[in-house]
Amino acid sequence: MLRDAAEIKDGATVDADLCIVGGGLAGIALASTFLDTETRVVLLESGPVGESAEADDLSNGESTAHPYFPLSDGAPRRLGGAADLWGAWCRPFDPIDFEERDWPWSGWPLTAEEMAPYYEKARQFLRMSERGFAGEAWADGLPPLYRHIQDTTSLEVGVWQESPLAPISEAYTGPLEASENLTVYVGATVLEVVQSADLGAIDGLDVATSNGKRFTVRADQYVLAGGALGTARLLLASNSRGGAGVGNGHGMVGRYFAEHPHIVAGRIPLSPPAATGRPRFAAIDSGLPGTFARIEMERPKAGIRAGILLPEDVRRRENLLNVIAHLRPPSVEPPRVALEFFREVRHQNIKKVLKGIPQLLRHIPEVINVVYRRLLKRPRELELYVQAETAPNPDSRVVLSAEKDTYGMPRAELQWRIGSLDKELLARTVTQMGSELEAMGLGPLRMEPWVTDPGDVWSTEPFGGLHLMGTTRMSVSPEDGVVDPDGRVHGVGNLWIVGSSVFPSYGSSNPGMTIAATTFRTGERLALELGGESRSNGDDTVG
Ligand SMILES: Cc1cc2nc3c(=O)[nH]c(=O)nc-3n(C[C@H](O)[C@H](O)[C@H](O)COP(=O)(O)OP(=O)(O)OC[C@H]3O[C@@H](n4cnc5c(N)ncnc54)[C@H](O)[C@@H]3O)c2cc1C
Repeated sequence: MLRDAAEIKDGATVDADLCIVGGGLAGIALASTFLDTETRVVLLESGPVGESAEADDLSNGESTAHPYFPLSDGAPRRLGGAADLWGAWCRPFDPIDFEERDWPWSGWPLTAEEMAPYYEKARQFLRMSERGFAGEAWADGLPPLYRHIQDTTSLEVGVWQESPLAPISEAYTGPLEASENLTVYVGATVLEVVQSADLGAIDGLDVATSNGKRFTVRADQYVLAGGALGTARLLLASNSRGGAGVGNGHGMVGRYFAEHPHIVAGRIPLSPPAATGRPRFAAIDSGLPGTFARIEMERPKAGIRAGILLPEDVRRRENLLNVIAHLRPPSVEPPRVALEFFREVRHQNIKKVLKGIPQLLRHIPEVINVVYRRLLKRPRELELYVQAETAPNPDSRVVLSAEKDTYGMPRAELQWRIGSLDKELLARTVTQMGSELEAMGLGPLRMEPWVTDPGDVWSTEPFGGLHLMGTTRMSVSPEDGVVDPDGRVHGVGNLWIVGSSVFPSYGSSNPGMTIAATTFRTGERLALELGGESRSNGDDTVG
């Protein structure tokens, strides 16, 4: 069932076996495993179905360390959460991402082998191909330049698959609505997770509605799926019993916030193939005739995206962070209205397409400039655009701000800190990638000045992939994190967390597939706790 929380009687109490807070990718993935089971599930989602500026504003707050985008960009409040706006590019973490490395606080208390069955469930849930994520498996679909890199260098080509679940709520609103054991309340914002007197369990949730009512939810088990900002903020703000918030006995809530820097780290001047002995590639050696090859390089025909990585054994031997890089013609960002317009065209949202036409027309000169520079002009250089891992850092964190939102809840303050170690390891990785590319006739690579500058200054412009991670990290010991390897909050028997906030190390892959995989693992533990079975995966639960 799908209900607007505004219809609930003021002061009411809603009972359930399981209550999930947050209806984004993690909340929906978890709910899908309990569809049509005996478990009575209530899912509380702060936002509505579809966009709402007022709801999104609940996520806003300040960034006081590294400059960042408006916080609501990465934590929109709506059914589907960020996965209603996401690119849906999916790739699991590499096995090495789960290992303990030479820098502090690295590694997961779970191995890649333990995660494998849950990645398979995530693949099915996100409806992706069984061909996997290695370039070799997609040789027929890779753009020629990447195929050549794969065949002639020691670099690996990795791929992302595009999940058709974009936006995710489109696929799942129907099944959630039709379900009899599950009620989704939209416009239901949890203001406090109320602890029992001995602090060992959760007694209930204090929930506000968009029309000024308050109600309580009582359940046997509670799962927070509010995203890396929303979940940390809710735990920190749940302090009416005193102390520093729920699950925060060791001051770990909010710490180890991470993002994947998405940034141009170097440039490769393009000499003509004759001068270097390399083959000719339409995508980089032709103007107008190369247009389709350039489009294919960014979005290959097979619905995949390609990137280059140093092989795992090199990363392990040289102790490098994980970096995946794209080679692309110099980027000229299209105006935001154009991106939104073409997104609606892709989703065949006729009403929004018609509404967007006048705005798009106002930006036509910029759009033409982007099309000319990105697609029609022969590029003079290639950008090495990286998506990078950073080392876990306890001082990179989310704290409560003195400012409050419309419900009187303290807003989040983000202090994203990335350090000189991250930059040094990135520079070493990029140097190695550059020499491999040079040996095959591309280059030499020129690093961006900020990469080689000593110190911890990166670009002064905001950057990132809107991949919000960390803040309630997974750990064996309560001193080192917030949840145990099953996702249960240390010391609070009936409280669990799902989502990328539990990642203790961050790899370089986009987080969606690992969010789904870890959520299915926690869902299995939770089903045992509730004395029942959840469904094996989400794929057969949707129409
Ligand atoms: C534009 C964009 C593009 C992206 N592209 C990709 C991509 O290509 N591939 C990829 O893997 N990842 C991508 N990401 C990241 C990915 O979408 C997110 O990591 C993922 O969707 C997070 O899911 P989540 O459910 O953990 O959190 P969220 O999506 O943040 O969902 C949390 C939900 O909880 C609700 N909530 C928060 N607080 C409360 C509260 N107090 N009470 C009730 N409800 C609450 C929110 O309204 C929200 O719906 C992208 C993100 C964005 C924004």
